[in-house]
Amino acid sequence: MGKNQVNTLDSFLSHLESIFSVTIHDAKEIIDTFHREMSSGLAGMKSSLKMIPSFVGPPSGTEKGKYLVLDLGGTNIRVLAVELDGKGNTSMAAVSRFVIPQEMMCGAGDAIFDYIADCIKLFFEKNCIDRQKTYDLAFTFSFPVEQSSLASGKLIGWTKGFTASGVVGNDVVALLSAALRRKEMGFIHVVALANDTVGTLVAKCYSDPSCDMGVILGTGTNACYPEKVARILKCPVLGLSGKMIVNIEWGGFSQLKMNIYDQDLDCASRNADKQHLEKMVSGMYLGEIARRVIVEMMNRGLLFKGTNLSAFSREYMLHTEHLSLVAQGSDFFADFGLRDVSEVDRGTIRELCRIVSTRSAKIAGAAIAAVVTWMDANFESDHTIAIDGTLFEKYPGYQDHIVGVLRELFGECAKRIRLELVRDGSGIGSAIIGAVAASARPVSSGDDCGRHRI
Ligand code: ADP
Ligand code: MG
Repeated sequence: MGKNQVNTLDSFLSHLESIFSVTIHDAKEIIDTFHREMSSGLAGMKSSLKMIPSFVGPPSGTEKGKYLVLDLGGTNIRVLAVELDGKGNTSMAAVSRFVIPQEMMCGAGDAIFDYIADCIKLFFEKNCIDRQKTYDLAFTFSFPVEQSSLASGKLIGWTKGFTASGVVGNDVVALLSAALRRKEMGFIHVVALANDTVGTLVAKCYSDPSCDMGVILGTGTNACYPEKVARILKCPVLGLSGKMIVNIEWGGFSQLKMNIYDQDLDCASRNADKQHLEKMVSGMYLGEIARRVIVEMMNRGLLFKGTNLSAFSREYMLHTEHLSLVAQGSDFFADFGLRDVSEVDRGTIRELCRIVSTRSAKIAGAAIAAVVTWMDANFESDHTIAIDGTLFEKYPGYQDHIVGVLRELFGECAKRIRLELVRDGSGIGSAIIGAVAASARPVSSGDDCGRHRI
C-alpha cells in the first residue's frame, strides 16, 4: 500500500486490520493445508510439520509414585516433584522456578546444562532432599527433538531465540546427564525425555480420557495428538499396535500469509525462514510484532508525536506482557519513558494490541480445528484440548477468540471441543511418562531396582 493512502490514522489502522486479518476463508485454507502437511510429515516426505513420533501412548491413569521433573521451557526452568496416586489424581509436592538468563540461551551448550544442573541442586537444597539416594528424573524439553527412544533424542534445531552451541545434533539426555555428573549429582538418572506438548496431553489424559490433544501457547507454540500407529508411515516397524502420541511441531507451519512486519521480524530473527507460525502466534513474538508497527507509525507521524523516535528502537524490548497489560485496561508507557500520552495514542495502542493478539488466537484456533478434524472429520466424539502456557492463561480474551473461530467454522459441533487450561501440565505429564518408564524396567526383589523416588 502506498504511503499517501495510509497517511491518516484511520486509514493506517484499517490497513493494519486488513493485513493482520484471518478471515473464515483463511481459516479453512489453513485447515486444508495443515492436513496436507500432516499427511506428508507422517509419510516422511518434505513438510513444514515434522510430525515426530514420541514413543509414548496415552496413559492408563494407574501410573503411581513421586517423581522429579525438569521442565525446560523457552523462558523458564521449572523443577518439580510430582506425586501420582494411581487413580488419575496428581499433586505437586514441590516446585521451583528459575528464569533462563539471556547469556545462557546464546552461549556454550555445556554452560546451559551446567546452569540447569545448578537449578536442580538448589531445588534439592531448598527442599532438604536426601542426596545419598538415587532418583529418577523426567526431562521436559520444549524444542524439536528427533526421539530415538523414551530416554534419548537429538535436538533438530533451536527455536525461541536459543542458539547455544554444541547442542544441535546431540542427545540432550546425554548432555544433561553429563552436566549432572559434573555437578556431583550423578545419583539422578534421566529416565524419560518428553516434549512439553506431549507432557501436557498426558497430564490431562491421566484424569480425563476424552483428552486427545495437547497444545502449548507460551513463549513458543506447538501441539500433539494420539495418532494410529498404522498411519505413522515413516516408522513402519514401530512394533506397537494402537496409538502413539505425535508431536506435530506446528510452530514450523510455513503456509501462512505473512505481512511486511512478519517478514521483517523473520529476516532479523536468529532462525530466519523457520518457525513461521510460531513467529505469528507465540508469546515470544507478539510484543516484537507490535513494536515494529509502533516504529513504523512513529516514523509516519501517526503515533507519539514529539517523542524521540528511538523510544522503541531496541528489538524485543516490547513484550507480550506489555500488550496484555493494555488489554487489561492498563498501559506500559512509563516503562518506555513516555509521559502524558494522549487519549488518541492510547486508543491507537489498544487497537494495535487487539489486532496483533486476535490474529494470534485466530491462527491458533484454525490450527486446533485442523488437528481435531484430522482425527474426527465428522465430530463423532467429544474432544478435550489440554492447553499449557502463559499466553493462553493470561492474555485477556485470548481464549474467547479461539472459541469464536471454532464456532464460526463448525457451528453447533464446536461445542464438542472443550479447551482446558492445564497449569504446569508439561511438567506433570513428564512425571507420568517417567512412571511408565519406571514400571517398564525389570524389577528385582520388588524394590524398584534400588531406585528411590523423592
Ligand atoms: P515457557 O514457555 O517458558 O514454558 P510460559 O508458558 O510461562 O513459559 O510462557 C511464558 C511466555 O508467556 C512469556 O515469554 C510471554 O511471552 C508470555 N506471557 C507472560 N506473561 C504474560 C501475560 N501476563 N499475558 C500474556 N502473556 C504472557
Ligand atoms: Mg512451558
